[in-house]
Amino acid sequence: MILSHREVRTLFHEFGHLLHLMFTRVSIPSLAGTSVPRDFVEVPSQFMENWCWRPDVLKSFARHERTGLPIPEEMLRSLDASRGNTPALALAGQLLYAKMDLAVHAEPERFSSGSLDDVDSAVAGDMDYFKNFKRAGKLRTARHLFSSPSGYASFYFSYQWAEVLDKDIFEAFERAGGPDRETAGKFRETILEKGYAVPPMRQFMDFMGRKPRMDAMLRKRRLAS
Ligand SMILES: [Zn+2]
Repeated sequence: MILSHREVRTLFHEFGHLLHLMFTRVSIPSLAGTSVPRDFVEVPSQFMENWCWRPDVLKSFARHERTGLPIPEEMLRSLDASRGNTPALALAGQLLYAKMDLAVHAEPERFSSGSLDDVDSAVAGDMDYFKNFKRAGKLRTARHLFSSPSGYASFYFSYQWAEVLDKDIFEAFERAGGPDRETAGKFRETILEKGYAVPPMRQFMDFMGRKPRMDAMLRKRRLAS
């Protein structure tokens, strides 16, 4: 079967959600597995995606469909080079979406008499990077900000917050040399098993031994060394 790198990442991502469900030791369904707050549920899944960028992991399964040869070094290098061509722009875009999402949900009275483009310009106007841009209304294309009360409405920021946590956790694995059994056991015990029986920040701190820091996310986006 031929899978693109994007599809492999999706596979690893969804596998992260499955691990969260499989390893839960919480017997109350409403608190078990992935029944955690929205800004924590993507942590195990986004964490799993990180493995798809590691040459040792890719070499362990990625083979040519016909020849069966492992993924060539050159392809690994170009894959790595393709990661985050415009990291600052990508991050700014994510933050803009998150801010617009919070603005329409938290301050509806401020924006109810105008158009969605007014929200767009007001929020973008607060961000140096975007304020001088004349852009087609971003907010009108962001359908899932209004999906449903249980969807991502007002929770778009959770992707970014989850990324801060998942990259921080992943660096703990990298410091241990990669897919390390002891670190994985700790991850399972402190996070994957816990569902919402323990507050998410407590779970994170039990694994990391400290509060989250965003340097790992910035490093992975190549915005810090
Ligand atoms: Zn997900």
